[in-house]
Amino acid sequence: MRHLFGRPLAAVAAWAAGSGTGALIGATLGETLPGLALGGGAGVLLLASQDALRAQRLMRWLRRTPEKAVPRDPGFWGELGYCVERALRERERQLAQERAQHAQFLNAIEASPNGVLLLDAGDAIVWCNPAAADHFGLDPEGDRQQRITNLVRAPGFVALLHAEPVPAQPCLLSDLRRPGTLSVLLQRYGPDMRLVLSQDVTEREHHEAMRRDFVANVSHEIRTPLTALSGFVETLQTLPLSEAERRRVLALMDQQTSRMRSLVDDLLTLARLEGSPRPACDGWFALDPLLEQIEARTRSISGGRHAIEFPEPGGLELAGNEGEIDSAVTNLLSNAVRYTPPGGGISVMLRRLGDGRLEIGVRDSGIGIAREHLPRLAERFYRVDGSRSRDTGGTGLGLSIVKHVASRHGGELSIASSPGKGSTFTLQLPAARVRQGGRGASLRRVHANAA
Ligand code: ADP
Repeated sequence: MRHLFGRPLAAVAAWAAGSGTGALIGATLGETLPGLALGGGAGVLLLASQDALRAQRLMRWLRRTPEKAVPRDPGFWGELGYCVERALRERERQLAQERAQHAQFLNAIEASPNGVLLLDAGDAIVWCNPAAADHFGLDPEGDRQQRITNLVRAPGFVALLHAEPVPAQPCLLSDLRRPGTLSVLLQRYGPDMRLVLSQDVTEREHHEAMRRDFVANVSHEIRTPLTALSGFVETLQTLPLSEAERRRVLALMDQQTSRMRSLVDDLLTLARLEGSPRPACDGWFALDPLLEQIEARTRSISGGRHAIEFPEPGGLELAGNEGEIDSAVTNLLSNAVRYTPPGGGISVMLRRLGDGRLEIGVRDSGIGIAREHLPRLAERFYRVDGSRSRDTGGTGLGLSIVKHVASRHGGELSIASSPGKGSTFTLQLPAARVRQGGRGASLRRVHANAA
């Protein structure tokens, strides 16, 4: 409102001042009226020129240097400049805030382990984050504006891009430029733009495949003795057998039941190992009495067919789960007996390494294992010779149990073998779980021997 009247009033004031001055000068020259008219015109012209100058200065500032302070003029032009500057600064502040939010948003998408790829209507890459670049083998900067179908030619991916309607569920693709499996979801947005979301599910698929294999293996392992058992039951029910034949069939049935029991026992042991916390580092037990029990068990399953050698008592103590260590060493020795022909030798060795670690080695002079099988030996149900394993009561889970026990105790299992010459399985335990026990521990074994 102030400025609505301000400029006309200023013009009137300029005219009045000019007219007054003109009239005074005109009167001294005897030309009062022309002096008044000329003076009024000059006053208004002066005001208009001053306005034009200030407007010009404001325009120049706006066009060239809006980052500097606005020219400080008094009155209308000064206030106009101040208002423009304030609006400009507010806009700049909002822009900076929006830019920061945008950068944050981009950083978050860039850091995402899931791939984000934007495509325009012509399949050209608009933007992609590093995960998408890795998933599809793209260069995030260099491949911009390139048609994605020229770079990723996997038929599954191309079919997904052009599918109508767009599938609502993610598709699994494994024929891409890199090994592994991707879960890819396509979404339309905006006018003909597409968003490709990708997730690396290689690990998940691998675990899923392992789980399926495991279930299939367990079913197969259980079905085989079950089929045999039902055959024997049928034989007993339908055929008139002599007493000797009946006893033989019952013995075979007993064999199959034991096989199923061993399998279930090993499965339960594995489940316990996988589902329970790692054994505490301060639960110490003496190794000598444990080895003594294992030695008795080994001699019993060997039935005198092998030369068996155990180390002298060393008075060592181990920290961990005694039952698990027992199960691991017993499994190794049971394998040594089963895979060593009668007359062969089996020995257990204890070796303390320089850094305090303990090696429990089980060596046999048995059939040995070809090099190509060694890396897979501790996989569940992996067998070099399936029928030999089953005939000797194996479940295919023994070494898997040993490996689990070793890693739960912070140790590892290593295998050295050569066909026809025998094998050495070494269970290595970390120094923190091994210590030299008191005299009592070593004496116990001496007493037991004496008894
Ligand atoms: P299994 O119950 O079949 O013995 P394991 O997991 O204990 O299952 O062993 C896996 C495979 O490793 C066995 O089937 C066998 O082929 C091989 N193996 C294990 N120990 C020995 C050994 N001492 N000598 C030769 N082969 C062995």
